[in-house]
Parts: sequence; C-alpha cells; structure tokens
Amino acid sequence: MTQQRVVVLGAGYGGLTCLLALAKRLKHSGVELVLVNKHEYHQFITELHKPAAGSADCEYIRIPLGQIVSRRRVRLVKATVDRIDIENRKLIFEDGNELAYDKLVVGVGSVPEYFGIPGMQEHALTLRSLNCARTIHEHIEYQLASSKVVKTEQERQACRTFVIGGAGLTGVEMAGELAETLPRLCRRYDIDPADVQVYNVEAVPEIMRDFETDLARRVARDLERKGVQLITGVPIMEVTADFIALKDGRVIPTRTVIWSGGVRANDLLERSGFPVGARGRAKVDQGMRSPASPDVYVIGDCAEAVDPKTGKPAAPTAHNAIDQGLVAARNIISDLTGGPRAAFHPVDLGAVASLGESFAVGYVGRFKLVGRPASVMKEMIELKWIWSLGGIRMVLLRLPRLFHLIKVALRRKAPYRPLIGPACRSGA
Ligand code: NAD
Repeated sequence: MTQQRVVVLGAGYGGLTCLLALAKRLKHSGVELVLVNKHEYHQFITELHKPAAGSADCEYIRIPLGQIVSRRRVRLVKATVDRIDIENRKLIFEDGNELAYDKLVVGVGSVPEYFGIPGMQEHALTLRSLNCARTIHEHIEYQLASSKVVKTEQERQACRTFVIGGAGLTGVEMAGELAETLPRLCRRYDIDPADVQVYNVEAVPEIMRDFETDLARRVARDLERKGVQLITGVPIMEVTADFIALKDGRVIPTRTVIWSGGVRANDLLERSGFPVGARGRAKVDQGMRSPASPDVYVIGDCAEAVDPKTGKPAAPTAHNAIDQGLVAARNIISDLTGGPRAAFHPVDLGAVASLGESFAVGYVGRFKLVGRPASVMKEMIELKWIWSLGGIRMVLLRLPRLFHLIKVALRRKAPYRPLIGPACRSGA
C-alpha cells in the first residue's frame, strides 16, 4: 500500500487543532502529515485589535509554526493556494506548484464582507491579519503626525478622527482598545487628546447582538466613558479618502476607517467549485465533510456547519473552529483506520469582549462576568489556547502572557486615562 498523505490547509484555530490531534493519534501509522499555510506563523486572530491599537507588540500574538509542530512528524509548506482540484485531489499553488493529497482539511478562514458599500474596500482598513494590524497602527501614527503639518482645519480634523465601522465583537474591542491607547499616542505627537475623536458606527440599533442586552449596555457605557462616540441605528453608506457618509445625511471627515462590519468565507472554496451557502461558506455534513468529495473536510469560518437543533449555521468563532478541527481529525482517523465517526454539535460556552486593559464583559454558560473577572477570563482563554498548542513548554515560551494574566488578576484599579473628545465634553 502506498503511503497516505493528509494535508491540512490553514494554520488557524481549527487547522492547528486538527493537525495536532492527527499527529498524536497517527504517530506510528506511517501517514504523512503536511501543513500548508501562507505564513510561517500562527496568529491569534481574536487579538489583532491589540497591535492595531498599539497596546501589544506583534510578537505577542503570533507563534512560529516550527515551535508548534515537530518537523520530524509534520512537513511545513509555506505557500498560498490558488485552487483546489477536487477531481484530481491536489492543491495548486499561486507559483504553479502542486501538492497531491489523499485527505484534505481546509481551514482557510474568512475575509471582510463589504456589502458593496461604495469606497469601503478601497479606503477602509481591516483587521484580518497581523500585517493588517501593523498597517492600521502605522496608519494611525502617520495620521497623528500629519495632523501637525496639514494646511487646513478640515484636513487636521480628518487626520485626528478615527472611525470604526460596525459594533460587533471585533468593532467594540477595536474601539475600546484604541480609545485607551490614543492618549499615550497623543502625548508622543504633542497633541491634545481632546482634539482627537473616535467614532464607532453601527447600522442597527443594538450593538454586539451575540451578547445579552445588559452586557451590551455595559459595553456601550464603557465606550462612552472612554470618549468613543457611539452612533447606532445608522449605516455607513459611503467611504472616501477624506470622509464617510452616513444614511442619515451626516458626513464625518476622516482619513481612517477600520471596517469590522462582518465577514464572509475565504473565496478559495467557491472558486474551486465547492457547494457554498450564505456568505460563501462551504456546505458540510455534521462530520465536517464536504458534499463535493468524501476526501475533503472544511472547518472554521469558511464552513457552514448547520446546528441540527436550530437549523442555523454555527457562528464563525474560534471555539467552534477548534471543535470542528477535532471532529475532522477523528473522522479522518476513522476513514484511515476504521472506528466510529464524530459529529459536530455547536455549544455556546461563552465569549468575552475586552475593551482595552481596563474593562471586559463576558458570559460563561449562564454566568455573566463584568470587569476584572471578565478580563481574567479573557487572559485565561488565551493561555488555555497556548497550552493546547504545546503544553507547559509553550506557556513557558510565552511567559509575558502568564505575567500579564497575573497582573490583570492582581490589579486594583483601571489604569486608563479617558480620551475626552469635544463631542463628549458637550454631552453629545
Ligand atoms: P459581526 O457580524 O458580528 O458584526 C458586524 C457589525 O457590523 C454588525 O453589528 C452589523 O450590523 C454592523 N454593520 C454591517 N454593515 C454596517 C454598515 N454599513 N454600517 C455600520 N455598521 C454595519 O462581525 P465581527 O464583529 O467581525 O464578528 C464576526 C464573527 O467573528 C462573529 O461571529 C463574532 O462572534 C466572531 N468573533 C469571534 C471572536 C472570538 O472568537 N473571540 C472575536 C471577534 C469576533
């Protein structure tokens, strides 16, 4: 019998979970494992707002893949896949090279959904990768510096106004983090923080619809306390290089729009002919297998895994991606060596939104957390993930994280100084 090759495409939460489970269970089986990824590192997508705002270094939220997987056990291929050839069971890379597979797991994540809003794709920045986060931060610093040298008052205002589009989890975390770090950046550029504005614009009347109303209200209150001007129930209709236009006719001069208005699946699957559902997510059965081929599993944000209890697709969260990665791993082992098959049943274990160092809200099952307990929970979730990537060795390699958790747990008082923009001072 020829050696079987299992390829995992994507080193996100789902892909790595699947790969590590396969490496453990197929240790002496002779099956070849290959991990294909665009970058040589894993990035903590759920924490990109921190380097974007400037409160954490990029190194803090990435781990080189060589530290996670044993190169003796797993072949790492750094490449971007252009197309999956389902019929001939191979990946075709952008540089024209090809890689054949016997079993394939696709966890290539999501991309921003622009809803066809004029100018959004051209002018807005997004929080999809470490490089995007770095770009956002450099852009913010550039705008602050430029505001000191531009000629007109309108230009100055546009340089000092930062708009976050969408107030889901990503949007409020970005707005909260930015409001906390801007006073420090203002000191660096000798700017009065009162001259800087942060807007968070949400199309529908409520923010953070995945959270219960009382928690969402606490978030709104904290954002406003920090000086963020929250506009709800008004969609952004147009974005240009110098302003945004809202549906109610308001025009906000700005050169910085950070778009967090929603996501859709990476279009690799649709392009490769996989059957897809809403927002381009690939259809899968409960075992995460694609109807396009018995040899392909799709997991994470790019999969449409329907919850049999509700009939609705599971949310594109890190937690669901991890669970789906485990289900796919079990089913590949079952394909190769026999044994029972697994099914994915989404469980809402909870979520935490952190708005900078000073405040967080969240829920775990029926329990709601506000303030320090939620901040500690958020840090523990991240550490648990690091632990699952390499146990105590990995935690020790990321010691600053552990120290940070201890600091958050022991801290007495919120350490931030609010950003008070003109509109807040007048009570708007
Ligand atoms: P989202 O879809 O949850 O929120 C986007 C928001 O943008 C919505 O409230 C929407 O009404 C708003 N919006 C859309 N069009 C708009 C417009 N024209 N103007 C203004 N607002 C507009 O998107 P998200 O926050 O990026 O989250 C995507 C998914 O990722 C969610 O399922 C979320 O739970 C998940 N997520 C998970 C984590 C984690 O696992 N820790 C972190 C962040 C996000």
